[in-house]
This record gives sequence, C-alpha cells and structure tokens, in this order.
Amino acid sequence: MNSKQIRQTFLDFFAEKSHQIVPSAPMVLKDDPTLMFTNAGMNQFKEYFLGNSEPKNNRVADSQKCLRVSGKHNDLEEVGVDTYHHTMFEMLGNWSFGDYFKKEAIDWAWELLTEVYKIPKDHLYVTIFEGDDTEGLSRDTEAYDFWKQHIAEDRILNGNKKDNFWEMGAQGPCGPCSEIHVDIRSDKEKQEVDGATLVNMDHPQVIEIWNLVFMQFNRLADGSLENLPAQHVDTGMGFERLAMVLQGVKSNYDTDVFQPLIREIETITGHAYGKTEQEDIAIRVIADHVRAVSFSIADGQLPSNNGAGYVIRMILRRAIRYGFTYLDRKEPFIYQLVTTLSKQLGEAFPELKSQKNLILNVIKEEEISFLRTLENGLALLDSMIANLKSQGQDTLEGKKAFELNDTYGFPKELTRLILSEQQLKMDEEGFTAALKKQQESSRKASETETSDWVILGDDDTQEFIGYDKLDAKVRISKYRKITTKKDGDRYQLVFNMTPFYGESGGQTGDKGYIEGVNGDTVYIIDTKKENGQTVHITKNLPKELGGTFIVQVDQKQRFRTSANHTATHLLHQGLRKILGTHVEQKGSMVRSASLRFDFSHFSKVTIEELKQVEDFVNARIAEQLQLEENRNNTYEDAIKDGAIGLFGEKYGDVVRTIKFGSSYELCGGTHVKNTSDVWHFKITNESAVAAGIRRIEAITGDAVKDFFYDQSKHFEQIKALLKNAKEPVTAIQSLQEENSNLKKEIEELKKAKAGNLKQELIDSAEDINGVQFIASKTDLDAKSVKDLAFSIDKEITNLFLIIGSNAGDKATLTVIISKDLVDQKKLNAGQIVRELGKFIQGGGGGQPHFATAGGKNPAGIDQALQAARELLN
Ligand code: ATP
Ligand code: MG
Repeated sequence: MNSKQIRQTFLDFFAEKSHQIVPSAPMVLKDDPTLMFTNAGMNQFKEYFLGNSEPKNNRVADSQKCLRVSGKHNDLEEVGVDTYHHTMFEMLGNWSFGDYFKKEAIDWAWELLTEVYKIPKDHLYVTIFEGDDTEGLSRDTEAYDFWKQHIAEDRILNGNKKDNFWEMGAQGPCGPCSEIHVDIRSDKEKQEVDGATLVNMDHPQVIEIWNLVFMQFNRLADGSLENLPAQHVDTGMGFERLAMVLQGVKSNYDTDVFQPLIREIETITGHAYGKTEQEDIAIRVIADHVRAVSFSIADGQLPSNNGAGYVIRMILRRAIRYGFTYLDRKEPFIYQLVTTLSKQLGEAFPELKSQKNLILNVIKEEEISFLRTLENGLALLDSMIANLKSQGQDTLEGKKAFELNDTYGFPKELTRLILSEQQLKMDEEGFTAALKKQQESSRKASETETSDWVILGDDDTQEFIGYDKLDAKVRISKYRKITTKKDGDRYQLVFNMTPFYGESGGQTGDKGYIEGVNGDTVYIIDTKKENGQTVHITKNLPKELGGTFIVQVDQKQRFRTSANHTATHLLHQGLRKILGTHVEQKGSMVRSASLRFDFSHFSKVTIEELKQVEDFVNARIAEQLQLEENRNNTYEDAIKDGAIGLFGEKYGDVVRTIKFGSSYELCGGTHVKNTSDVWHFKITNESAVAAGIRRIEAITGDAVKDFFYDQSKHFEQIKALLKNAKEPVTAIQSLQEENSNLKKEIEELKKAKAGNLKQELIDSAEDINGVQFIASKTDLDAKSVKDLAFSIDKEITNLFLIIGSNAGDKATLTVIISKDLVDQKKLNAGQIVRELGKFIQGGGGGQPHFATAGGKNPAGIDQALQAARELLN
C-alpha cells in the first residue's frame, strides 16, 4: 500500500463509522498562549474538551500535521539520530466528544489494524495504565477487559504514569491511555528476545504506533484531578510509522514518504545513503527538517528571531549544520529539495505547490546568511585554537564553546570535532554549566503562574455581540489570576456575552471598562481569544463579582481600528490589482494608530506603484462603498463565490465574509459601515521583511490628518528658514551647492594658513642646549596639526616641537621629537605628552618620536608649553 492509500484507508474506515472527516488545522497556532505549534491531533479540539464550546459533530477523524520541537513534546534531538521520530509528522486520529468511549475505541483500532491493514496479530502488543497510588488512580481494568476480547492476555502489558497517562499540559484535560505497539523484527530476533520485554524500551523496531487516550479528568493548578463532566476519546497514530509497518521496511525513512527526498539529497550532495552512520543521520535530518520548515512557511510562519519563527529558524539551522559538517556542503542546497517535496506532497497539501517559490526563496536566503555566520564562527574558533596552542593548553574553555554555540549557532559537536582534529579538547562540564545558566535565566523571565478558573455561572454561551454593539449588560461567568514576572498580577474575565473584540486575525483586542452597579469601575486593558473564548484582561477584580455589570468598549479606538481593517482589505485588493495576483497576504497588524500588511512579492514596490495602490484605495473610499457582511456562509460556498481566504488560518463550519464593492474576503474582524468612514489612506513606508516578502505600513482617518498637519507644519518651518523662498527645493539645492563650495574654499585656506604657519614656526625655533625648540598655539584641526608637525620635522634637525591646539572646549597637545634626539638625549614624546596632559586635564600617549594628548581644559595649554620648555633647561 502506498502512503496515499494508507491515509485514505484510515479516513474511509472512520467515515464508515459515522465520523465527520475534517481538514488538518494549521501547524502554527495563533490563539493559544500555551502552545506555539500543533503537537497532537487533539489540539484543534481542545476547546471541546475544556467545555468552552460545543462540537457540531461528536465523532470526528482527520490527519493532522504536527510539529514536536518545543515545550512538553520536543523530539528534536532524537530526529535523524533514530529512524522513527520526526519534527513534523502526520497524526491520524479519531475522536469522540462525549459519545463512544473505551470499548468502541479499542474495537475499532483493532479492526482497522488487523482486518483492514492486515497487520498480523502476533506482531502487536498493547499497554494499559497500571494505576498510580500517589494520584489515587486505580488500574484501567476496563480497557484490559476490552482488549482481552481481541488479544492474548500476555500481550496486554501494564504501563506507568509516564507512558500511560496522557496530559495535554501542566493543567487541563487528561486521562489514562492505551497504546498499541508493533514488533517488526525478524522471526529469528523474535525467537531470541521476547518482544514484550522491548515494549517502551526505545527499540527502533518495537515501537508505539497508536495511542488511545481516554479523557476523563481535569488537572487543576494545585495538581489535583477532578472528573470531567463528559468522557472523551482522543487517539493518535503516527502516519509515517504506520507506513513503515505496512510497507515492510525497518525505518520511516525507507518508506515512500521520505525516499524521493533522500534520493534527491544523494544526487545533490554526492553522498550515498546507507554508507556511514554519521552521513545517514545527516541525510535523515535534512530530509526531515526540510518538510517541517516548508510546511511552516506555507502556514505563514517565516523564520525569525523570536517565538515560533525562532524555532523554525533553529530547525533549518540544524539541517544546514549537518550538511555543512557531514556532507561537506558549504553552499546553500536545502532549498533545492523544495521542488521534490512539492511534487511529492503537493496533491495532499496544495499549499506546498502554490507557495513553492516563496518557500524556496526563504530557505535559500536563510541558508546564505547562516553559512556566512558559520564561517565567521569558524574564523573565531581558529583564533581560539591558535591562542590555546600558543599558551601550550589543550582544552577550550566551556564558556567560549558556549559562546560559539549561542552567537554563531555552532553545536558543541562541531566545536568538539574541529578541536579533536587539532588534538585539542573541549571543557564539556563548563559548556553544560553555561547552557544551564542561560536556560535558567530565560525560564525565570518567562515564568507564568496560572490559577484555576473560578466559575461563577456555567450555563453561559459567551456570545460575541461586538459586530453590532459596543456596550452591554453582562455577568461574569468565570475569572482567574495570571502572574508573570513581566506584568505582575493580571486577571482574566470571561463574560456570558461580550461586545469586546479579542485579538485575532491581526487585529488588536478592544480596550474599555467594566462597571458594577455601585459605579465600581475596572479598566479592561486588553482582550484576547484563547481556545475559542474571549478573555478580558484587567489589573484588578471588581469588588463585587456577582450580579450584572455594564461593559463599554472604547469607541474611538474601535472606530479607528475598524477603519484600518477596512483599509487593509482595500490595500490587499489594490496590491493584487496593481502588482498581480501572485500577491498573497503573509501577515497583517491592524491597530488603532496604523496598519501593517506583509505580502509575497519579489521586488521592491516602486514609488509609482505605491502611488497607484494609494490612488486605488482612495478611489474606493471616494466611491462610498457600503459594507456587505454575511455571517452565515460556509467556507466552500464563500470560496466558490470568489471570497479570498487566508492559508494557515483555521476556519470553522460557519464563516463570515466581508465585501466592499469587489473586495471580498473571509474575515472575522471589525469594519466600518462604509468605505467613506476611512476618510483617506496614506502609505507611510515600504520595506522588505524576508526574501520575497514586502511590508507596507499605512495610516487612515485622523492619523492622516495629523500626518498632513505635521508635514505642512514642517514645510512651513522650512520655508520660513529659507526666507519664504518661492521654490524651496531649488533654494535648498543652491544652499547645498554653496555649502560644498565653501567647504572646498576652507580646505584651501587651511592649507595656505598651515603653509604660512609652518614658515613662522620654523623662524621661531630657539636653541636650548643644542635642541631646536618650537612651541606654538593654534586652532587648526588635528589632522592639519599632524601634517604640519611632520613637515617641520623634515626640515629641521634636533627638533623638539610642541603644538597646543584647541577646538571648542577640547584641547590637544602634539609633540614631535627628531629621531636623533630620541636616541641621543633619551627624550620620549610619548612619556612627555602623558606628563603634560595633566595641564589640559587629559591624557595621551604615542611613540617616542610622535605623540598626542587630548584633554578638556584649553586654558592649560600655555602652562603645558611652558613646562615643555623647562624640560630642556
Ligand atoms: P514516543 O514514545 O514514540 O515518542 P509518544 O508517546 O510521544 O511516542 P503520542 O504522544 O502518544 O506519542 O502520539 C501518538 C502517536 O504519534 C504515537 O503513537 C506515534 O505513532 C506518533 N508519534 C509521536 N511522536 C512522533 C514523532 N516525533 N514522529 C513521528 N511520529 C510520532
Ligand atoms: Mg514522544
């Protein structure tokens, strides 16, 4: 069975059992503060488990793109080293939301694996939760009894809390789980060692393929468990591992999911797979990582310096380093794999096809810049090595190795390897200590303490009414306290309904206030969306929490934000019209003060194009287009109808569409009622964000008024300074010209002055005990003084020249002493200026022949000159 058929068979099987088949959610998460990436199939359904919203269908199945590179599930270090953990993988899953439970989950998993996929029963083992005294949890005998119907009892193994109790995070839904493991070793190996002893022992051919989780508890902040109101099933099966089993190979990388990529890496690098362990690991790392990075970019997450973007950058850099170290790749090459990847997976994931060029360019750019960093790091390491050798040492300090790692992305393995080539060692303990120290401090900085929700009323729908209203009478359904280092204590409030828009889709959250009956008012400083609910953030709690409240959104701010959102749609339309339909939205930020829009386009947008875009948007504003809003569309119908959706965005069953004339988008944000409300649109900046991605910043409405007011004020000021010249530009040009002519003239004059001065000084030379002494004060600049001193030195023997110069409040002493004097009389200009520097309240130094001192007391120059003369007496 090829991988495509394997995936389809899974979905067909569960569709047959009345499951709704849903698309994979984006891999990069947008409204979950506890999670950057989807790391399990259940993430997109979290709100159902938490009871924040009701599912449309209580049986669902899908194939979900997952990424396990951060937080609780981080497999990064295993990837490539073993043959069955990936950064990005597909998780096949089926769910019951308060519907079927353990029996059906177990029966169907068994039926699918043994009857449909036809995995021999004696290749399988299952595990059940053995119980845990400290938690007060007993053995999952229910699951045991259901398994007994299908499989020999000696193949049902007990598992501990670590392996068989699944938790989403430190808090939240959890429950016992039951895993299915498969033994794909040869018959001979199976005879020698009993497979049951290898389950959960990290054996590469006795591995877990499917985990059936039975959600029945909720973990509270104090660590205790409470029963969930309803019981759920959440399963996840590794698609690539299943393919390995069904295709009869011993490694995920030998399946048709990875083989095309590996062949391509062999062709590009000239290194064959299967020769040495190190090269194989490198090839697996690259084949794996190019998938993770490509899917993230397609999801809208570009590599960057923080958050999710940083994680993506680190994954790509890991691949580059492996290529650099073990496959001798000093030039970019990973980007070339994107073509193969898009050919292979482009059908199942069309985003890889449509965004191929963007993905390819972004990866290439990252490769170029990181290879440059690596080279700088190499040069630094070389100099560290030379230093070690010159000092007769053989171990590089751990702190230095860590610095290489931290600043230049040098993994310690690479540093160790290069050192060992030179018969040197690395201080491993020092490295670990430096790493620990850094991790500790960043952990402390980001520590968050989250209390449990305090529920005040749970029958509420938490409906959003903010498209129509900006105020409401509400009740507080629940609240909790969040404490962070950065902000201190904050409260999150959830209302039974709310007019507040929670930050999402690039639009910032509303601000406003909540007022109790007694006039007790608390400000809402921000509003966010978390796991499907709107949370209002305050610094304090209202004194009375029960009863009703009036809540009010800050109207002015909301209006400006809405105008900017509408303008963003018009801008998007204008860019596609003027630059072409290759323009795709890659990010947007809609605030009350301004808007920002990132989009794919391969060259700088010219001034003429920007003007056309601006004109386009302003023409739509002038047309006074009425908002046409549809809150009850389906995704398919909206797209068919011509609405533009965003890739990497999670759309529900019901979507909202926003139309202004022929601008037509899927959008959950707030908008003005008519484009004329935007008043005027002005682009303030255009720049590059990454390879192939441009950014436009713009303003609307009152901000434009302020902008024009400022501009004209400045212009008036300039004109006034130019004595109200009719043509200010010409006036400035002629000032500039005049200025440069004057500069030239000054240079000439300075030279002439120095020439005169030179002669004057030579004439003033005084013989003191055989030394030709010249002392002088001048206001020439440092360079002229130096030139002057050297040119006098050429003409006079036995010279001791000291020049004191002052420019503004700075004083300089310059001393030049003929070389023969230096030798004969042991005079040293360096020492002398250091002494004399005291008079001008400064210091200096230099060579015995020539030296200067700088100070801040020009008044002391005379004294310094006098002191110099006394030196010779
Ligand atoms: P393992 O112990 O092998 O790391 P897990 O206990 O972390 O697996 P689960 O969280 O239960 O796995 O995920 C469900 C299924 O997803 C697993 O049974 C496995 O088939 C698959 N899976 C988990 N992690 C990975 C990964 N990094 N790469 C590929 N498949 C994975
Ligand atoms: Mg794991």
